[in-house]
Amino acid sequence: MDMQTNKKKLGLKEKYAHMTRGLDWETSYQSMDKVFPQATFEGIKIHDWDKWEDPFRLTMDSYWKYQAEKERKLYAVLDAFAQNNGHLGITDARYINAIKLFLTGISPLEYVAHRGFAAAGRNFPGVGPRVACLMQSLDEVRHAQTQIHALSNYNKHYDGFHDFKHMLERVWYLSVPKSFFDDAFSSGPFEWMIAIGFSFEYVLTNLLFVPFMSGAAYNGDMATVTFGFSAQSDEARHMTLGLECIKFMLEQDPDNLPIVQKWIDKWAWRGIRVLTLVGMMMDYMLPKRVMSWKEAWEIYFEQNGGALFGDLARYGVKVPECITQCTIDKEHISHQAWATFYQYGGAAAFHTWMPTDDEMDWLSAKYPTSFDKYYRARFTYWRDEAAKGNRFYTNTLPMLCQVCQIPMLFTEPDDPGQICYRESDYEGEKYHTCSDGCKKIFDDEPQKYIQAWLPVHQIYQGNCFPEGTDPTVEGFNPLAKVLEWYHLEHGKDNLDFEGSRDQKNFDTWRGLATKNT
Ligand code: FE
Ligand code: ZN
Repeated sequence: MDMQTNKKKLGLKEKYAHMTRGLDWETSYQSMDKVFPQATFEGIKIHDWDKWEDPFRLTMDSYWKYQAEKERKLYAVLDAFAQNNGHLGITDARYINAIKLFLTGISPLEYVAHRGFAAAGRNFPGVGPRVACLMQSLDEVRHAQTQIHALSNYNKHYDGFHDFKHMLERVWYLSVPKSFFDDAFSSGPFEWMIAIGFSFEYVLTNLLFVPFMSGAAYNGDMATVTFGFSAQSDEARHMTLGLECIKFMLEQDPDNLPIVQKWIDKWAWRGIRVLTLVGMMMDYMLPKRVMSWKEAWEIYFEQNGGALFGDLARYGVKVPECITQCTIDKEHISHQAWATFYQYGGAAAFHTWMPTDDEMDWLSAKYPTSFDKYYRARFTYWRDEAAKGNRFYTNTLPMLCQVCQIPMLFTEPDDPGQICYRESDYEGEKYHTCSDGCKKIFDDEPQKYIQAWLPVHQIYQGNCFPEGTDPTVEGFNPLAKVLEWYHLEHGKDNLDFEGSRDQKNFDTWRGLATKNT
């Protein structure tokens, strides 16, 4: 039996208030402090949660409607891509390695972002950020799912896509993005919001998404472009949440400024270190390049970020202090990272190669002061040696930075010929970091970073072999056992692109699709 209701239409703002703010209540038989134990330990002071301005007045019902619509479109494109063998339309099969890096290094972290925003939402006593975090949490789980679905089509045809979740937990270079999120997730809710909501979503997201998505577009990968767009339309909301959150902290109490500034400095640096992988992807892994890492850095960080920090200056916020170092690094990091992956190509879950002469010319043009001077000769030498059958692999494991977990591959700010490392003493032990930026982070919270799970240390301690492995047997091959433990199949997932199964299959299938045989 239908009830007669008064059909007064509510305005959007009113409706939103009813559906969000009105849901909050004060506790009675437990103190609020006990219910929200994480709200104060970081030192951030909030006096009035009602001052929070919701950046997006989005109710759950309209949220589901928008997202469902996007989902329908995305899956229609994915279906068409799969049905039409869209994977054969990419520029060349080297490109596929860029999306292996994405699936193993980024997509599982969308899932961690989902958990992190759910936790932040739970831990904020204010109802405004709680609702915003809940929606972002849902967005993030959707990002993880749509990326996995989109890239699963490649898994039917190519190597290296088969066990991304497992690999994230174990493979050496994947500990770089993993530790970034672990660090954020194991901090309090306010630091999480600066780390992910502000630094990552607001300051650095364009440097991650634009290169991968325009890289996909330039290289004919419609599936990736489409999930990129689908995620990117949530990004506007995420960015606004990050910005609102930082402004809210700064407006609530002047004592919050130094804490917030410290987090901005820390997370800008940590984020930029992770983005080394993106820089390398842009300069070396895309057969058809979009722009250089350096150009992307200049547009999305120096210009856009400069405007943002100009805006935040009225709160007393300063540009992150790592910028001087980053201005030097933009000339080098992508080359140094690719050189490292090439040398450790036996232990990576994607293929590596040396650039062709044309590609080296492109690099010289984009990096007129650094590429020819420091990298070209080394790369040419390795390429020539490989052609003679002397492919160079490094057989020892590198020292890792205790904070960003990147191998010591970066150079001194004032000497690109000298590997940079810093040392800290803590409780009688020595710890190593890759830079002044990482050392500062370590020294500020050594108790946290001494717990880091460093892949190389773990390998040397014998913790990265399959169960039941006996390392004392004659002819023991530690690398083979580590790869087994990674679920990485030697000869298929790793080594050179040249001669790989991916290369052969792609050429054969494309030949079948485009020629009479
Ligand atoms: Fe996301
Ligand atoms: Zn570091």
